[in-house]
Amino acid sequence: MSALHYCAAPLCKVCGAEVSADGVGLNRKIINRGVTEYMCVRCLAAYFHTTEESLLGFADRMRASGCVLFPAKNGRSGSYTA
Ligand SMILES: [Zn+2]
Repeated sequence: MSALHYCAAPLCKVCGAEVSADGVGLNRKIINRGVTEYMCVRCLAAYFHTTEESLLGFADRMRASGCVLFPAKNGRSGSYTA
């Protein structure tokens, strides 16, 4: 099994926004590993009646536990607080 490399972000099937690597991981983790259409984090949050912060926190916890669906962050600035 080769490492996945996201050279082009998929587009959200709801709003058309680029889906981040975390967003892709969340789709696979929450919906189905075999999903071929993705929702961005914002639309996922709306769909599951939760918040983006909650979903990203979940992604961070999965990453911290070594889940392969959530690659290490690189070169992304933003609100990444430990
Ligand atoms: Zn969206």
